[in-house]
Amino acid sequence: MSKAWFDPHPPYVSFWCPGCNKDHTVNVTPGTGWGWNESLEEPTFTPSVKVEAVQWSEGDHFYMPTHPNIERGKPTCCHSFVTAGKIQFLADCTHALAGQTVELPQRPE
Ligand SMILES: [Zn+2]
Repeated sequence: MSKAWFDPHPPYVSFWCPGCNKDHTVNVTPGTGWGWNESLEEPTFTPSVKVEAVQWSEGDHFYMPTHPNIERGKPTCCHSFVTAGKIQFLADCTHALAGQTVELPQRPE
């Protein structure tokens, strides 16, 4: 079991975000500036991971129900530090786990 998974082409590492209830992906290609400790069990990424998107209408395929306070057309944000298998959500997150640190879940089946 692991908390992250690796795609070699190009080298991407993904994890399941419990704040967004979806996966996030970090491009770990050398030279991109992203650091990864090469652990899938207890991953660490540097620097922080920031995922920005735009909210869609409720019911739309791209609507993000874990960001319910964001109106259609407004930006959503998920900003975190992933360190040793834990995810620290920063205060600028627009989901309910803003400001909390939780264990990363295992990769969903
Ligand atoms: Zn997220």
